[in-house]
Amino acid sequence: MIDYHIHSDISSDCGVSMRRMAASAREKGFKEICFTEHIDLDLPGEMDFTVDFNVYRKRFNAIKNEYADMNLRMGVEAGLGRQTKDKVADLLDKQELDYVIGSQHIIFGHDPFYKGVWEQYSQRQVYDEYLRTSIESVKECDFFDVFGHLGYIAKFCPFDDKLMRYRDYTDAIDTLLISLVHKGKGLEVNTNGLFMTPDTMPERPVIKRFFELGGEIVTIGSDAHYENVVGHAVHETLGTLKDIGFKYVCAFDGRRPRFITIDSLL
Ligand SMILES: [Zn+2]
Ligand SMILES: [Zn+2]
Repeated sequence: MIDYHIHSDISSDCGVSMRRMAASAREKGFKEICFTEHIDLDLPGEMDFTVDFNVYRKRFNAIKNEYADMNLRMGVEAGLGRQTKDKVADLLDKQELDYVIGSQHIIFGHDPFYKGVWEQYSQRQVYDEYLRTSIESVKECDFFDVFGHLGYIAKFCPFDDKLMRYRDYTDAIDTLLISLVHKGKGLEVNTNGLFMTPDTMPERPVIKRFFELGGEIVTIGSDAHYENVVGHAVHETLGTLKDIGFKYVCAFDGRRPRFITIDSLL
């Protein structure tokens, strides 16, 4: 089993050490995990989402030695955005990383994790703006391997019907998915949505659409910030990918996708 979205205390919003995250994965029988620490250079002063790569690499290498029976990979989850794209690309160019998730965390200048966005705009306005900025970011940014947690905003939506459904945002979601396929970028299926919404991020019909459009690179991650979340619902979600028609889920080595047959994991 694999989990390609795990944070540790290298990320400023996570208090759990890499060792404890790896131990939790091993306990649950996971053979491969990828740390994806936060880099978000345009968060408006709410938190410091930068990474000290010297510290990160040192700790990662130590844990990799300790957990030699597992495949540990070193990645980042980098915030997408027109304003910061060159800085982020420069930063990542200097690092030998296995995997980069590109995530749209900022809309209207804020992370929808914080309440303000929802007080100022309607749900439709927030979701439309999220998709508009995501489409712009995917067009402008090249530094990432997969688009992270599509529909992320639903997680923090204070209204009852949270999901960003394909049927309600068809045109924008199609534009985004087609752009990913054309650029050879993958789609992350993030199981963390299941804690707050009825489906993964993105929801199943969006994953299915990616498949229909010829998308081949899909990854799966729990977005764990706590040990108990490591590997959450990965098994079921792989079943969903298989039902949709995918034969492979991807791992990454040095920014190159490695295709693993889903059957070998189930
Ligand atoms: Zn994220
Ligand atoms: Zn994350």
